[in-house]
Amino acid sequence: MGELPGIVIVGASGRMGQMLIRAVAASDKARLVAAVDRSGHDWVGQDLGELMGGTGRGVIVTDDPLEAMANAQAVIDFTAPKATLAMAELAAQARATHVIGTTGFSDAEIAALEPASRHCAQIRAGNMSLGVNLLTQLTKKVAAALDEEWDIEIIEAHHNKKVDAPSGTALMLGEAAAEGRGIALEQHRDAGRDGMTGARKAGDIGFSAIRGGDIVGEHDVLFAAAGERIILRHIATDRAIFARGALKAALWGQTQTPGQYDMMDVLGL
Ligand code: NAD
Repeated sequence: MGELPGIVIVGASGRMGQMLIRAVAASDKARLVAAVDRSGHDWVGQDLGELMGGTGRGVIVTDDPLEAMANAQAVIDFTAPKATLAMAELAAQARATHVIGTTGFSDAEIAALEPASRHCAQIRAGNMSLGVNLLTQLTKKVAAALDEEWDIEIIEAHHNKKVDAPSGTALMLGEAAAEGRGIALEQHRDAGRDGMTGARKAGDIGFSAIRGGDIVGEHDVLFAAAGERIILRHIATDRAIFARGALKAALWGQTQTPGQYDMMDVLGL
């Protein structure tokens, strides 16, 4: 009663997991109640405070998400598609807001997330930053204003550990461009050109992925026509922007009815 919402971080040891733990620990609007990682991970059973130089002291990392969620109002999950599907069912059972930052889902996996959202607020976005969500809107507007004389290409760059391509953000931007143009992305998606591909098809939306070093995330939406080009660009230099967005979503979810939402809903865009 009057207590701050309790948050569980899943994928605690990950690049985003550690950012999220710091964001929740630093917040005066939420409290960290548990941290989860996969069975067999060497963080399991250890005190977060010792693992993270003081942050999250007293919270023991567990591999039992159901127990972790027992006293939680929200679960923030930046893991992998299969793990997130399992978490969705548990979050539904616990009636906890499920914030999903995980990317790389197949269409079938996205469909499989829906049943859980009948029991809790499920907020999923390929990118939780304010900047990228604004860029998505700009992309839709620009695409709506231009015809097929303008080729649309999405170019993204990420660190060398990223496992999926195109990035979740690139797909979000592609969807926005397709929506603006009034077409279905799936029928116009052109990814992975290599070899004698033939000339570019008018109306396609192309994707290119760069992987290297420690790049946090960079996205260009290029509109190219004869004689001129427009480039909309977002550069993330700090993962904290995604963690802040995810925490905002977890708090926003506390006042929502069950259903599927995205960051546009959270940010009121
Ligand atoms: P990472 O590999 O560093 O971390 C993933 C973590 O998940 C690891 O700690 C791993 O042990 C854990 N994990 C895997 N299976 C698990 C399970 N069954 N139960 C509990 N934990 C499990 O990856 P990362 O860079 O932190 O990215 C994670 C995901 O978040 C990726 O899909 C990435 O694309 C996405 N991402 C999204 C945004 C966004 O704003 N939406 C931003 C950055 C990254």
